[in-house]
Amino acid sequence: MSDRSFLNWPFFEDKHRTLALELENWAKSELTEYSSAPANVDLACQELVLKLADGGWLDYCVTNKYGGKNPNLDVRKSQQIGNGGEGFKMAMATLDIFRSTVGAAALGFARHALHEALNRAKSRQMFGAPMSKLQLIQAKLGDMSLDIDASALLIYRAAWTKDKGAERITKEAAMSKLFATEAAQRVIDEAVQIFGGSGVVSGFAVEQLYREIRALRIYEGASEVQKLIIAAQTIKENK
Ligand SMILES: Cc1cc2nc3c(=O)[nH]c(=O)nc-3n(C[C@H](O)[C@H](O)[C@H](O)COP(=O)(O)OP(=O)(O)OC[C@H]3O[C@@H](n4cnc5c(N)ncnc54)[C@H](O)[C@@H]3O)c2cc1C
Repeated sequence: MSDRSFLNWPFFEDKHRTLALELENWAKSELTEYSSAPANVDLACQELVLKLADGGWLDYCVTNKYGGKNPNLDVRKSQQIGNGGEGFKMAMATLDIFRSTVGAAALGFARHALHEALNRAKSRQMFGAPMSKLQLIQAKLGDMSLDIDASALLIYRAAWTKDKGAERITKEAAMSKLFATEAAQRVIDEAVQIFGGSGVVSGFAVEQLYREIRALRIYEGASEVQKLIIAAQTIKENK
């Protein structure tokens, strides 16, 4: 990833920066075969989960008591969240978390696309100079970078607000999901444009990203639904 400055934003502490670096180094050495689309996606997913487990990364989903690294996770019955009969309400509350993570996935796709586009724009020669010297290309790269940071800020706000103990983050999660997925689509589309004909050739990362980002604007609540949620919350807050 070209730009890691977001790790210095106030949402993060040293332990997060250390973890991010460790994970990135691990992924670089262990996940080399995932640079192109696998022929059998199901099998590749199973292998990836096993690798994550072997690497110790799934330990963050397990509490200390059972050998994991998470001090707070405890899913025993004695720690049941909410009361019996409130399952639907609880399920809706989990969407607050999952929607933010869909936004985070879209952000990762967008960062990957910008990284690819920057490399391409700096290496491709046009009219005797790198493509990145063309002002219209610079405008695209600037817009992509802006979309990415705006998405990140909305996602980190949602996650940070939840981490700080907010019971619900319905509006924050909907905003982060809506903005980040729509922005990632724009960013990836511009990356394909910068790659020219190669951008639509199977095997190029931006072509794969272009196909993969599409579903994120639909699942966990389509963009139209997020707009309705944001509007409803905004009206409720301003009665
Ligand atoms: C890759 C992928 C993974 C998925 N994973 C899961 C999963 O794990 N679990 C699960 O339960 N579901 C999953 N889904 C289903 C997903 O949640 C639904 O596809 C999504 O909610 C849209 O529902 P639908 O496909 O029935 O389309 P429809 O309900 O027919 O909606 C079609 C379109 O109508 C528009 N629309 C919807 N509501 C409104 C509105 N109120 N106003 C205006 N326009 C509107 C949106 O553009 C929407 O995309 C997944 C879908 C995909 C593509």
